[in-house]
Amino acid sequence: MIDSTLFLAELNVVFGDRVSLNEPLARHTTARLGGPADVWLPVNSVNELVQAVTIARRFEIPVFMLGSGANLLIGDGGIRGMVIANRAMHITFPGTDAEAPVVRVESGVILPSLARRCAQRGLSGLEWAVGVPGTIGGAVTNNAGAYGSDMAANLVRAELLSPEGRRVWQPVGWFEYGYRSSRLKRESRTWIVLQAELLLAWEPVTRIVAQLNAFNERRKSTQPPGATMGSMFKNPPDDFAGRLIDAAGLKGTQVGQAQVSPLHANFFQNLGDATAADMLALIRLVQAEVQKKFEVTLELEIEVVGEFN
Ligand SMILES: Cc1cc2nc3c(=O)[nH]c(=O)nc-3n(C[C@H](O)[C@H](O)[C@H](O)COP(=O)(O)OP(=O)(O)OC[C@H]3O[C@@H](n4cnc5c(N)ncnc54)[C@H](O)[C@@H]3O)c2cc1C
Repeated sequence: MIDSTLFLAELNVVFGDRVSLNEPLARHTTARLGGPADVWLPVNSVNELVQAVTIARRFEIPVFMLGSGANLLIGDGGIRGMVIANRAMHITFPGTDAEAPVVRVESGVILPSLARRCAQRGLSGLEWAVGVPGTIGGAVTNNAGAYGSDMAANLVRAELLSPEGRRVWQPVGWFEYGYRSSRLKRESRTWIVLQAELLLAWEPVTRIVAQLNAFNERRKSTQPPGATMGSMFKNPPDDFAGRLIDAAGLKGTQVGQAQVSPLHANFFQNLGDATAADMLALIRLVQAEVQKKFEVTLELEIEVVGEFN
């Protein structure tokens, strides 16, 4: 637990009773795993986000940005410092006369809901995102993607808070995007995504909605429901992580209540009472078996953060 009475006092002045201590992060991750955040603060706008990070940095308190926690395995010991829950959700849609329509979104906007809202307005380009849980901040960081498209294909530029505390717009090239990788991911926790501009295209609503529904159906038939983090490992070149795990005979393997999904081997589920330590042990077991059987090193797609006791 951090000992900074002055830090908490200042946070309380600005954010009142939204500041809380020891918030269980399992409530805020899709895998339902993760111990407490020392300090927990939901922010409702980009300006609040900047203000919160600026105060924490002044007191040298580490900041962890949490989107929907859809790509995270947070340790049972939780996260030291302040966890900011990003609820900055303002969206500015382009006028109907815009030739190259650009939508501006704050970084707490939820990607699937943005995809649906764009579809209703005849804005095409985010159909791939309809089943990708998470915020714009998480997607810009991870270069989230599906069905042959990704954030890199839509992003024009994003506004960031720099490590020195300046607000700067960076063009898509700055992010050095690759397959689920980015400069932000490599320089982890130094830049904060505030908002983004995404380039879309006008299309008939019926056509966009049909594509959204088709992608949704495809997901429902191939991916397990329940408490997961999506794909656990990146696909190795010319192969699929799920195929390798399945071929190693590991579908359904359990450590405690953490299980390799019997439906899709690259999805690991919390069956209800798993710990983050169970999940990490299962990850290590699968990596070791696949390495032994096929001499392939499976690289994590999810991020492991926080304290594991
Ligand atoms: C059922 C399921 C299906 C999934 N399918 C897909 C898929 O098809 N394709 C895919 O790419 N992913 C998929 N995922 C993973 C997940 O949806 C993406 O990785 C998503 O981009 C995570 O966003 P988030 O807001 O939850 O980020 P979080 O998990 O909360 O955070 C991820 C990282 O981003 C950082 N971060 C978050 N917000 C900010 C910010 N504003 N500024 C700076 N850093 C920030 C965090 O600190 C952390 O390092 C799936 C997950 C689930 C549970």
